[in-house]
Amino acid sequence: MTDTAMTNLLDLDRAGLEAFFGVLGEQRFRATQVMKWVYGHGVQDFTAMSNISKALQARLQEQAVLALPEVVADHRSDDGSRKWLFRLADGNCIESVFIPEAERGTLCVSSQVGCMLNCSFCSTAQQGFNRNLTTGEIVSQLWLATQLLGRQPDGERLISNVVLMGMGEPLLNYDNVVRAMRIMLDDFGYGLSKRRITLSTAGVVPEIRRLRADCDVSLAVSLHASNDALRNELVPLNRKYPIRELLDTCREYAGEGRRRVTFEYVMLAGVNDSDTHARELVRCLEGVPAKINLIPFNPFPQTRYLRSSGNRIHRFFEILNQAGIVTITRRTRGDDIDAACGQLAGRFRDRTRRRTRNSQANPVTHP
Ligand code: SAH
Repeated sequence: MTDTAMTNLLDLDRAGLEAFFGVLGEQRFRATQVMKWVYGHGVQDFTAMSNISKALQARLQEQAVLALPEVVADHRSDDGSRKWLFRLADGNCIESVFIPEAERGTLCVSSQVGCMLNCSFCSTAQQGFNRNLTTGEIVSQLWLATQLLGRQPDGERLISNVVLMGMGEPLLNYDNVVRAMRIMLDDFGYGLSKRRITLSTAGVVPEIRRLRADCDVSLAVSLHASNDALRNELVPLNRKYPIRELLDTCREYAGEGRRRVTFEYVMLAGVNDSDTHARELVRCLEGVPAKINLIPFNPFPQTRYLRSSGNRIHRFFEILNQAGIVTITRRTRGDDIDAACGQLAGRFRDRTRRRTRNSQANPVTHP
């Protein structure tokens, strides 16, 4: 446990660090000096920051920490994916996944402990919601994964892309997520470009608008259905922000530059995967700069859904493709370590009332 009077520097973006050093009566450039050590070199110990005076090192030790979660599990998949379970200071656990590909290495990070959106096909939803992650807890996932993965022989980092597609709804933890992304984008942080950070949302319309003004990273939207009746069932948030309103907002987000929005579509056998659905989806997306990502459903215990067959997915893909929509079928990775989409669960105690009806006294289960 860290002392609450101490400032966790991982909670602060560059502007926050400059303000922190200002209060100490120090110059602003201390912020970028410390960021270089922390994010560039992975240094956690203030006394190892050799361009900082002994006196300031001592003050930092008194007033600040670089608090990181504890690594409690590190699973390696046969396909090279890795999944970590991190224990936070309050005992809750979250998961992050690294997925290596030929051209890039993607880290999938969590934004909340659990999720409150209750999407019917998602295993995180089954576990309920506990709390938002702090900025430091979001950034820590990248910090720890970077250290644990090491570097390529040429000195390059393995993580080139970050996706906010782990546990939680990032736009319902807006401030902490945006601050964490600023650290990832900062040249003195991880120096990632906006194209290399993707935020995935179930469609929190007002926050998508805010995001466009604040930090317009790549946007992915979990659509999963081609009409409101079906989407209301799969993604209950749709009752608040229906498809038309969501897609209008996506069109605005794409903006003049016509940067495509990615639409995720989970393939559920007999539910949303017919030819009619595919054609309806094409009509829905007319005029929206879109890419579609078909995700074969990843089953988990007690789910009522089944994955669509390979043939069905292929046929659905063909219809979208022939209509001129850039479509990819996501390969399922990390199956053997439960690292696939919608499988991230962590360990935590549900604190939402709605879950109590499920009468599990202590729903601390997976993995
Ligand atoms: N709340 C955000 C991000 C977390 S989910 C969102 O809704 O986008 C990341 C992606 O995994 C989403 O597209 C989600 O719909 C998908 N997903 C969830 N459960 C899944 C499952 N069992 N199989 C396949 N994809 C799933």
